[in-house]
Amino acid sequence: MKLVQTIAEMRTQSQAGRSHGSRLGLVPTMGALHEGHLSLVRAARQRSDTAAVSIFVNPTQFGPSEDFAKYPRDLERDCALLEGEGVDIVFAPSVHEMYTSQNTTWVVVEGISDRLCGQSRPGHFRGVTTVVAKLFNAVRPDVVFFGQKDAAQVAVIKRMVRDLNLPVEIEVCAIVREPDGLALSSRNSYLSAEERKSALVLYRSLMRVHEEFARGERDSAKLIASAKQEFEQKPGVRLDYFEIVDPDTLEAMPTITRLALVAVAAFVGKTRLIDNIILEP
Ligand code: AMP
Repeated sequence: MKLVQTIAEMRTQSQAGRSHGSRLGLVPTMGALHEGHLSLVRAARQRSDTAAVSIFVNPTQFGPSEDFAKYPRDLERDCALLEGEGVDIVFAPSVHEMYTSQNTTWVVVEGISDRLCGQSRPGHFRGVTTVVAKLFNAVRPDVVFFGQKDAAQVAVIKRMVRDLNLPVEIEVCAIVREPDGLALSSRNSYLSAEERKSALVLYRSLMRVHEEFARGERDSAKLIASAKQEFEQKPGVRLDYFEIVDPDTLEAMPTITRLALVAVAAFVGKTRLIDNIILEP
């Protein structure tokens, strides 16, 4: 496994792979790897000839009062995990390598970037699309793997790829959960034992919607009202949003007549967690 820290070296590696006609798969991450990330890595190993993983905690997608400084970082541990998975290349550039102080160019996907997490985290998706475009240019992958865990991110990236005719395929992998249902997240490490228990409310609210949908309820307002009851009288938990939307446009879907994304975000203590499910009529 090669650890690459500069864009120039990354391009050389990528070109070398390509000259043998092989397909390069990329898994973009912010490190602090868990089984959710590793499921993407395994998909990349299966569906491409060369598997690259990027590790970059991207400052431009964090708001001024968010957790950029304290976000967990452990490159040595991450590299050991990735070596164990048979990854070929780890691309772990510094902030300085990815951004100069004169950076004034942004990739903005209008409209859709202001929905769900984009509404509660202004500028978040501008940072995501900009860094993902930069990673695509540095790594030049044929196929890129994202997790359904970040469903809004998937919608925004797919739109960017389509709008800019970027020559990459996007593969989306299922959410990996703890046995009790909590979606794996690097931010789960912030939770105290008590908060870890409270955090289950996200999954429970989604399951409640799933059950009522299975019993025939198609009215999103009723499903959302029912889900929100789960959040009542939960000390230390603050609901950010609970929405039922079109998975491609992220626009609200008042009646569920086609595939629908049910997405939730909540603060458990100071930790912001997200989760979602797809409903299929
Ligand atoms: P992050 O390091 O949080 O930026 O995540 C990197 C990639 O891993 C993103 O495409 C996420 O959607 C994906 N991911 C994070 N958590 C999970 C999970 N529990 N299951 C599946 N994919 C995940």
